[in-house]
Amino acid sequence: MPVKAKKRLGQHFLRDRSYLIRIAEAASLRPEDVVLEIGPGEGDLTELLLERAGRVIAVEIDPELVALLRSRFQGEDRLALIQGDVLKLDLTSLLSEHLSVGSKAKVVANIPYYITSPIIEKLIESRRVLGECVLTVQREVARRICAAPGSKEYGSLTVLVQYFADVELLFDIPPGAFRPKPKVTSSVVRISFRERPRVEVKDEGFFFRVVRAAFGQRRKMIKNALRSLGLADEAIRSAMERAGISLEERAESLTLEQLSRLADELFVSHA
Ligand code: SAM
Repeated sequence: MPVKAKKRLGQHFLRDRSYLIRIAEAASLRPEDVVLEIGPGEGDLTELLLERAGRVIAVEIDPELVALLRSRFQGEDRLALIQGDVLKLDLTSLLSEHLSVGSKAKVVANIPYYITSPIIEKLIESRRVLGECVLTVQREVARRICAAPGSKEYGSLTVLVQYFADVELLFDIPPGAFRPKPKVTSSVVRISFRERPRVEVKDEGFFFRVVRAAFGQRRKMIKNALRSLGLADEAIRSAMERAGISLEERAESLTLEQLSRLADELFVSHA
């Protein structure tokens, strides 16, 4: 018997099998792969993952769904089912238990939209043990993750993800493919963590402070937005000149390389 969906837990179950198959296929799973699934729900995607991968670690917060999954997958010893909040787990140690030395887990998940950003941050934090992630998210978030400089979706989420990973927008899923229907269209993105960040910076923490300040007031020219860092106008102006960035520029037009040069120049004046 299907479980009544709990909206507060972001429960929208993907019912259209053709999309479930496309998601499972997008991760190019092999029998040696370990997969983390966040929010397995009733287990339709889980089943397709188990057909393709060697091992699936599924984390589900809802005890009612966990009970249903336990009976659905009874005797399936390649599934490790964990009841809990994915945001509270130490994913690095959880996954390391199942990984052979030097290998990385894949993530395939139709994630609960009320915690999209915290989940993405959590995955970034756990990137040492993660390779490719195939995530179903709101279309608007997918567009932000994959945005190019100069577009209106380009912002601090873009820079955060693209600094650590290569990204690809795969396909959209209409609301009608889910039960209950979400209000928004969804998209599937592939986030592949890189061995090294896309650009090298002097100080990663400072780089992200600059990025947050620059995009925090995105309609302002960057020289004004950066004042929130507490730096003197003259220091900002000369760092921008040294980084080869025009004083009229706005954050949304700067590439990752330009942002990293700017952060490095500001770091020198800040230190
Ligand atoms: N994978 C299923 C599917 O594709 O139909 C369900 C996806 S549904 C959008 C999101 C799932 O995440 C739900 O089963 C929900 O209970 C679960 N969930 C919500 N918050 C969670 C959390 N903090 N940790 C783990 N799972 C969570």
